[in-house]
Amino acid sequence: MAHVKLHIPGPVEVSANTFQALCSPMIGHRGQGFKDLYAKIQPQLQTLLGTKQLVYLSTSSAWGVMEGAVRNLAQKKILNCMKGAFSDKWFDVSKKCGKQAEALQVEWGSPIRAEAIDRKLATGEFDALTLIHNETSTGTMSPLAEIAALKKKYPDVMFIVDAVSSMSAVPLKFDELGIDVLLAGTQKAFALPPGLAVFVASPAALAKAATAKDRGYYFDFVEFEKNAKDSMTPSTPSIPHIYALSSKLDEFFAEGLEQRYARHRQTNQMVRDWAAKHGFTLFPEKGFESLTLCCVNNGARPGSRVVDAAKLQKLVKEQGFLIDGGYGKIKGTTFRISNMGDETPATMNTLIAALDKAMGQV
Ligand SMILES: *Cc1c(COP(=O)(O)O)cnc(C)c1O
Repeated sequence: MAHVKLHIPGPVEVSANTFQALCSPMIGHRGQGFKDLYAKIQPQLQTLLGTKQLVYLSTSSAWGVMEGAVRNLAQKKILNCMKGAFSDKWFDVSKKCGKQAEALQVEWGSPIRAEAIDRKLATGEFDALTLIHNETSTGTMSPLAEIAALKKKYPDVMFIVDAVSSMSAVPLKFDELGIDVLLAGTQKAFALPPGLAVFVASPAALAKAATAKDRGYYFDFVEFEKNAKDSMTPSTPSIPHIYALSSKLDEFFAEGLEQRYARHRQTNQMVRDWAAKHGFTLFPEKGFESLTLCCVNNGARPGSRVVDAAKLQKLVKEQGFLIDGGYGKIKGTTFRISNMGDETPATMNTLIAALDKAMGQV
């Protein structure tokens, strides 16, 4: 099968180097070799996430940890901040976990603002909230620092934050933010194959989890902490993924985190410029556009150019690149292009050349 390079917002393109690391010889997960591997990446993950807490490795997609966070931390009532397909779904997941849940819904493309959360939390009804930092379905980033600042006013509310499509591409300092859970699947900006999630929990979250009777086993935060202290995971992890993560983290630090963030800003700007050049506007509210993908208007809002998105996608695919045709209720009226992971100005230029050519034919 011909290789079609992924520019969808996850999974993203995986490098040959990463695949090679994935194929390292297998080791036992209770042996010294594994402990050494985990102990080697632990400080790298802590630096990346700006935390002194232990960073956990979950063999699951992000939803495993998202559901786990609800089961570990919500006892009274959970506030689900909703602004797109992924954040909206967290409300259903909360209810499916048997939790009392309330929706804080804003229009798709709008960010969640601290003021709206403050009004809800002021009722005193909630002991947890879920927030998606970078809502991938709409390409919208919410102001995390502004929201996290509310934690001081509501110390007993557990702030659970999904950074699936932003972690490692933008600076996220867990301890400084003062939130309770930060999680990501590694098939997005980390550019690993799907199957591994990383997360970190605050001391308060761990203390609260210990009191949750129905937190289950596979995603029990207390088990993760206990095992991580010995550089282990509760159950057999996907060891190939952890080798790949180790290799990836070496690449992050060889490049430099600041350079990595700057590269994502730059490659993202290239897509924005491409869209503007062709008369497209972006879907998110101005000032809240994602830095890891662009959700391009294609009829969802007035004033933007409209093309046959399926045809554009097909024309681009024929040249070896896969872009996304829009997600959920804005499928077709938007399309999405990812710049996350290993993309550079040079690789983005090859994509842009293909997009330009396709625009001449669509
Ligand atoms: C991709 C994505 C998810 C879902 O991740 P899975 O790995 O499929 O569980 C959740 N949240 C956001 C913001 C995402 O981009």
